[in-house]
Amino acid sequence: MSSTDPSPEFLCKPNVAAIFNTAQQQARKKLMRGTSLEEVMDTLVLSLEKAYPSIFSSVLLLNKDTLSHLSAPSLPEAYSKAIDGTRIGPSAGSCGTAAFTGERVIVKSIATDPKWANFQVALEHGLMACWSQPILSSTDERVLGTFAIYYKTEKTPSEEEILLLELAANLAGTAIEWGMVLKDRHDLEEELKESNAALQALNSDLENRIQAHTQELEDQNYLTKTITDNATGALFMMDATGYCTFMNPAAVEMVGYTFEEIRTKQLHYLIHHHRPDGSHYPLEECPLDRALPQNFDVRAHEDLFFRKDGTSFPVSCAASPIFDENGVPVSTVIEVRDITEEKKNRQELMETVAQMQTLLAAMPQIAFTATVEGELDYVNGHWREYTGLPKAAVLGEQWIGALHPEDKDRFAATWANSVQTGQDYKIEIRVRQWTGEYRWYLTRAVPLRNENGEILKWFGTATDIHEQKLLIDRLAATQQELQSMNDELTQKNKDLKRTNVDLDNFVYTASHDLKSPIANLQGLVKALQEELHDLGTQTEPVEPLLLMIDKAIVRFKNTIDELTEISKIQKQVETGQEMVNLEDLIEEFRVVNAELICSSKATITTQVAAAPAICFSNKNLRSVLYNLLSNSIKYRHPNREPVINVSTDTFGNNGIVITIEDNGLGIEERHLSQIFGMFKRVHQHVEGSGVGLYIVKRIVENAGGEITVESKVEEGTRFEIRLHNVALCEITR
Ligand code: ADP
Repeated sequence: MSSTDPSPEFLCKPNVAAIFNTAQQQARKKLMRGTSLEEVMDTLVLSLEKAYPSIFSSVLLLNKDTLSHLSAPSLPEAYSKAIDGTRIGPSAGSCGTAAFTGERVIVKSIATDPKWANFQVALEHGLMACWSQPILSSTDERVLGTFAIYYKTEKTPSEEEILLLELAANLAGTAIEWGMVLKDRHDLEEELKESNAALQALNSDLENRIQAHTQELEDQNYLTKTITDNATGALFMMDATGYCTFMNPAAVEMVGYTFEEIRTKQLHYLIHHHRPDGSHYPLEECPLDRALPQNFDVRAHEDLFFRKDGTSFPVSCAASPIFDENGVPVSTVIEVRDITEEKKNRQELMETVAQMQTLLAAMPQIAFTATVEGELDYVNGHWREYTGLPKAAVLGEQWIGALHPEDKDRFAATWANSVQTGQDYKIEIRVRQWTGEYRWYLTRAVPLRNENGEILKWFGTATDIHEQKLLIDRLAATQQELQSMNDELTQKNKDLKRTNVDLDNFVYTASHDLKSPIANLQGLVKALQEELHDLGTQTEPVEPLLLMIDKAIVRFKNTIDELTEISKIQKQVETGQEMVNLEDLIEEFRVVNAELICSSKATITTQVAAAPAICFSNKNLRSVLYNLLSNSIKYRHPNREPVINVSTDTFGNNGIVITIEDNGLGIEERHLSQIFGMFKRVHQHVEGSGVGLYIVKRIVENAGGEITVESKVEEGTRFEIRLHNVALCEITR
């Protein structure tokens, strides 16, 4: 078959127009339903290819000077990809050339046609012929793309095939244009939607802002209303002509007018028309009405206001002018407080203060009153008499000048603290007299308070304590001196105790060390006597000497024994204590000293029923009684038989007194204080060491007791031993 012969397909399909019509309608429907242009074009191409099975079609879109793939459902994908983006030109394959020239291009043989020289890839896919029809815009003949028909054989189109190509290109053009129109419409719709959404957002934002602003205004209004409605003070607003434009509930209650009533006349002539003295009060002279035109604030202005019923009441008011944004005076805010109660309290306070001041004037001390802030506002005459200062120099804070420079700061701090805390004030300060001399004063002040506990006034006195103060200072100095003397004495006492201990140690050591040489000496004298006797020599001349030596040795020994006894006592302070029966001890003395008692014809009587036994060191008590009893016999009177009485008694809490009384020689008054001293002797006619009473005293005092003596020469002597807490002491054996 010749390539120019009309294709048998076309001959068999006489109703080409009907096919295209159907395809066109389908395409339109699909596009209208929103199907994409690619899909619509694929359907179109496929329905064409279905009608004409030997053709392969493609639709390319022109974008500036390149062609891009739109639809070629039956062509190999690789081929479609290879030609996608082909630049148009005078020799750019069938489609590139058709798009470039705007004319149909018929290529019978792709293999030989020079326009396909650069697109031999078609041959690889078996494509041999390609006819391309430019798709033109229906409005301005602009090239929109190309519609191509491929054959797998070299082929020239028949007339019907040209017609088919044109119809197909037309149909594709219509679809593309519809697609474009629909896309534009879709884009527009999207844009519209977006701007609608933006508009809506803007709208709701605006609405929110308006709502917030309205709420804010409402809140503000509510707040203002709440404040003014609940304010305890009355609030009025007055315009520039003096008419009331607002009043809060407190104001209504205060003056008895309703807002409607108060607007009928200028405010001044309704509630402020007369002065306190009853005279007419012209509006032009009222500071509350002057505040706005003359632009000044009125503060704490006290005046008289009138109620609707004609009654009046004292008030304290404040007025502030208000201007608009251009500085034009528009209204005055007036705040009013009824001070009836306050004035009454003030009056009462004044009366109380006056009464107190009358009282203070009669006081013998300096008396003063001070304000809540702590400033002196009254002093009685004594202050002026004392300081010589004129009244003007006394009130306020000037009087501080009369204080001693060293006391000023202390005073100021204490006073400031009392004024701040309300605590009673008390301080000692020096105040200058008119002579220039400073005297000490005790200043006290107490606050006067109202029923709410608020301080209204301070009342105070200043008392001259100069003499007491000096006395106290002197006492303090004396006390100081005494203290240091005491410290000194304590120190001396300590030293003495140490010396005492040293002495005791010395005595103990000395007596102990002397014992053996004395024993030696005694032994030697005895040996000498025996030697002399053995020699048969005349010993009479030396006999008295030997006797004297012997006696001296015995005395020396005795003295050493006594000394040993003394040092032992010091070490026996803590000797174990036990219950000692006095009768038993005295009986023991009688037995031991039977010879002496017998020879002296002494009688020892006892009256110890009050305290028959005492808790004491048995050894020490024996030493005490033995010493005292033997002394009573030793120092007996030569003209009478000795009678010694031992008695006991109790005192206080567990105290016991032991008394030993004799009818002996007695001791002269002047010697009484010495007899307890070591080696002190009053009578020399009998042998003795002078340490017995010293030992007794040491024992008694070591036990915390005391020993005293009373004596009358020629009559007798009485020793009294007082022991404390002896009945209760624990018994240790
Ligand atoms: P001594 O008896 O060894 O001399 P004391 O210390 O016992 O030493 O007594 C001191 C002195 O007190 C005695 O020497 C004596 O003069 C006097 N004396 C003590 N007791 C009596 C007494 N009962 N009557 C009179 N004189 C006394």
